Amino acid sequence: MSSKSTKKSSATKKSSTTKTKTKTPAKSKPKATKKPTTKAKAKTTKATPKATTKVIKATDYAALLQRAREQIPPEVFDQPRFRVPEVDSFIQGTRTVVRNYKDITDTLRRDPKHLLRYLAHELATAGEIRSPQAFFNGRFSSRVFEELIGKYTDEFVVCPVCHRPDTEIRREDRLLILVCSACGGRTPLKG
Ligand SMILES: [Zn+2]
Repeated sequence: MSSKSTKKSSATKKSSTTKTKTKTPAKSKPKATKKPTTKAKAKTTKATPKATTKVIKATDYAALLQRAREQIPPEVFDQPRFRVPEVDSFIQGTRTVVRNYKDITDTLRRDPKHLLRYLAHELATAGEIRSPQAFFNGRFSSRVFEELIGKYTDEFVVCPVCHRPDTEIRREDRLLILVCSACGGRTPLKG
């Protein structure tokens, strides 16, 4: 492919007589849009860094959350939140063992082989089930599994119509359909 051979390091030197240290507040929150600060003013006064209070107060946040919650129909909260067990995994040599694999697939009520295929594919590795555990070639953190299982849950467990997990996967002809027993929704699945 094309290699970046013409990489110009254009060091824009601005003739600044006074060195001004631009202190960027090391906020850990990555902002989506960074405003290009083109201001290159040489400050004459010693700028004592003022602690800008951009942090949203916890109380304000709670109030916002409370207000948002009031907009949501109450039946949403009647449903016990669908919880997938935390992934209990450890690394054994060059492999990763998911200790509570059966527990996870039992909760999801999905075929353990189906989830295994999904995870192995996403991790680009091979896996095998030795119930109640599952083994994957390579070293992966439990966090990685949790993220993938979350994605799997969204795609293959939770009904996109009513957002409940009371579903099953049915094979009809050559199609896989997510059938919801709560709302009757039928969602074709890919793969
Ligand atoms: Zn549904």
